[in-house]
Amino acid sequence: MRALITGVTGQDGYYLARLLLEKGYEVHGMVRNGMSSPPRENPDGLAGLGSKVSFIEGDITDQASLDRAMQQVKPDEVYNLAGQTFVPVAWSQPFLTMEITGMGSLRMLEAIRRHAPKARFLQASSSEMFGKAEHSPQTETTRLRPRNPYGAAKLFAHHMTINYRESYGIFACSCIAFNHESPRRRVEFVTRKVSQQVARIKLGMSSRLKIGNIDARRDWGFAVDTVRAMWLMLQQPRPDDFVIGTGVTHSVKQLLDIAFAHVGLDWRKHVEIDSGLVRTAEDDALCGDSSKAREILGWKPEVTFKQIVEMMVDSDLAMFSHTPMPTLRAVAGD
Ligand code: GDP
Repeated sequence: MRALITGVTGQDGYYLARLLLEKGYEVHGMVRNGMSSPPRENPDGLAGLGSKVSFIEGDITDQASLDRAMQQVKPDEVYNLAGQTFVPVAWSQPFLTMEITGMGSLRMLEAIRRHAPKARFLQASSSEMFGKAEHSPQTETTRLRPRNPYGAAKLFAHHMTINYRESYGIFACSCIAFNHESPRRRVEFVTRKVSQQVARIKLGMSSRLKIGNIDARRDWGFAVDTVRAMWLMLQQPRPDDFVIGTGVTHSVKQLLDIAFAHVGLDWRKHVEIDSGLVRTAEDDALCGDSSKAREILGWKPEVTFKQIVEMMVDSDLAMFSHTPMPTLRAVAGD
């Protein structure tokens, strides 16, 4: 089996590439520069896997390069994980966000339609599409009301995925993923920001952590669990859309509690609320009901929120103190 992954240097790209390699796939990762070496944009992104992944040059904003990638790789499965995914940047760069996250997905679908119509396609959709949700938890049939340009761009891509499935018969699935974290989460996101800063404070490298709304809640899952669901979707007899979440929410305050307690510290002594980090339009009721995925895919989350947070803190402690990664290392990576 041959797979093509966009966004291969991101958190999910790493875990998905690792999963597919374990399953014996030939894995091709699309990158924006050089074809034969790990990409410059994030040279560490595929640590340990770089030599096993074939890199193909392409850019989600350039149709010709996507057409060429599809012709060259002739993939059996395509995973579209590329995107501008950080909400504050979606506000400062809404056109870019739409171009990459929205139009980029349409370009991928079009490249498949033209050059690899038998390939199975996985669109990484997002719980941000629910936005100001009418009820909680959300399912595949909950009304979509995105509240930021990222959610709106993902909504466009989600509907194009469904349209290409219904009108062109492409095996296209949409994975409506709730937040998913790991030691490979980028540092702009709150879980990694906290785990990294907790490690620095514990090691005496810093003393403060500036944070936004500590009452904000999210359904935080484990990235390894999420990419497993993506793979399962493409192994089904027919294409469909699935919500992938844990069904449990936690607050940023609980995140702080777990992370600081793990290293024997009290967050109240170190955390400062920064009003500049508080968002104006929060999606506070986001919680994923994955009954359909549980029933049809046989999927369920394997790792709890507490385990994820502690794993991330341990990983950052190890990174800053240059020791090998402890606990759950085999699950998290490397
Ligand atoms: P998102 O769900 O994709 O926006 O993921 P984030 O990790 O960026 O944010 C999750 C939640 O944490 C949101 O409700 C943020 O408002 C909240 N939050 C509180 N403080 C911070 C912070 O300092 N940084 C970030 N990124 N989020 C914060």
